[in-house]
Amino acid sequence: MNVVPPTSASLISALAGVLPNGGLLTEEEDLARYSRDWSGDHFGRPLAVARPASVEEMSALMRRCHEERIPVVPQGGLTGLVGAAVAADSGEVVISLERLNRIRSVSPIDFAMVVEAGCVLEDAKRAAEENDCLLPITFGAQGSCRIGGNVATNAGGFNVLRYGMTRDLVLGLEVVLADGRVWNGLKVLRKDNRGYDLKQVFIGSEGTLGIVTAAALKLYPKPTKIETALIGLRSVEDAMALYARARRDCSDLLTAFELILRGGIEITLQARPDFADPLARPYPVYVLVEVSAGGLIDLSAMLLDFLAGANDLVEDGVVASTRAQGERLWLYREIMVERQGRGGRYLRTDVSVPISKLADFVTDALLELERTRPNALAVTYGHVGDGNIHLNVVPPEGMAPEEVEHLFEEAEALIFAVVDRYGGSISAEHGIGRVKQKAFLERIDPVALDLAAGIKDALDPRHILSNGRILAPKSSLDYR
Ligand SMILES: Cc1cc2nc3c(=O)[nH]c(=O)nc-3n(C[C@H](O)[C@H](O)[C@H](O)COP(=O)(O)OP(=O)(O)OC[C@H]3O[C@@H](n4cnc5c(N)ncnc54)[C@H](O)[C@@H]3O)c2cc1C
Repeated sequence: MNVVPPTSASLISALAGVLPNGGLLTEEEDLARYSRDWSGDHFGRPLAVARPASVEEMSALMRRCHEERIPVVPQGGLTGLVGAAVAADSGEVVISLERLNRIRSVSPIDFAMVVEAGCVLEDAKRAAEENDCLLPITFGAQGSCRIGGNVATNAGGFNVLRYGMTRDLVLGLEVVLADGRVWNGLKVLRKDNRGYDLKQVFIGSEGTLGIVTAAALKLYPKPTKIETALIGLRSVEDAMALYARARRDCSDLLTAFELILRGGIEITLQARPDFADPLARPYPVYVLVEVSAGGLIDLSAMLLDFLAGANDLVEDGVVASTRAQGERLWLYREIMVERQGRGGRYLRTDVSVPISKLADFVTDALLELERTRPNALAVTYGHVGDGNIHLNVVPPEGMAPEEVEHLFEEAEALIFAVVDRYGGSISAEHGIGRVKQKAFLERIDPVALDLAAGIKDALDPRHILSNGRILAPKSSLDYR
């Protein structure tokens, strides 16, 4: 049964011709899995789903969309958390990258790989490992998110403090532009100062400037040793003091330093009765520390010496003696992330402040939340080695939906006001999309907004690409 609204019939026939062999989905039952994101908070039924299987098909598709002014939104693994990848209510065609998913090459000598945008991050990481290399991007959604989504959101994750954000790992890009032209900027050169570094414009652009079809990514030697510890501490101040020492004492071998407040550990313990409290008694604050290395370094001795030397800060801790134990320690964090909302909606924030201000920020923001919304549950954790903290707010059970909405608005405004006081960012990782747009536009410097609008007009003159994400929506008919 074809239930596409009649208004979209001409659109369907315009696209069907350029996407043969099941490349265009229009049936209601086929559209469902492209309509809702991971969080379940964002839903948008697409007019159709286009699934090009080659760069040539993507180019022909975009040329046609440009000619016909058909609004589109590129979609990767749907794990983005700002509502950007699902179709807008105004009507959009979803462009799924899932069929452009090949690993084109892995070169252990160049320490580089070329991967198509629809490749799932975990598959790309596995291909790197098979060549004795490491693709460092690592986070909870890696089994679902795709490389194009990672580039488009400039994804971070656990290893940023050692290897940088996705931006730091991109050597080159292949992008299909809004008018269908293909920009081949794929290269594995480490150094190249010829003119503007155009790839930077597309990284983090959330699908608004072009469709990434492939990326050349930097690899690192695969570590042969990984050591993981979970440490109990008295306060966030002590956690940040421990971090400062770890940066110096563990040299560049520190790969992760994740903060979890006690409430987060309790979420895991409630969700998984088979998990014991990780340390002999509860502590207000925990950090997960990971170091990794190859070669002859005695990593275990280094970590144990470091922790012993920090006994004025470390209250208690457990160091994994096997990889399996290390992975189990990480589960305390992963289960908390999955179960924090008790299956319902919750407010997600992903803010950052200068590392030196992080402890004060957490204290102030939590105090203000407690003062204004004592009945809401604050869940606090983050990649504090990058000054990035998730301060999420879970509504009390049974709260009416309108009340929940009000709570989220109030709590977000309050948290963002503290971020502003500390000179921070309202989005350290997840981007702006539609969810953070109002807060973003309220804060953006007018010159920056002018430049951003100029870049958008130059690359997508008819505003057909992800209209209304990051910048305010505009009608494609207003443009040449
Ligand atoms: C459990 C969990 C943990 C997470 N942890 C982290 C974390 O630690 N760090 C972090 O940074 N993020 C994290 N995220 C957020 C999310 O996983 C990342 O933003 C990820 O990079 C999104 O990739 P995706 O393929 O799912 O993209 P999607 O959600 O499909 O799309 C995200 C955006 O990218 C655009 N897009 C997708 N593909 C392309 C393309 N080929 N060309 C142009 N634009 C495109 C979309 O239009 C949309 O604007 C987490 C999410 C979950 C669910």
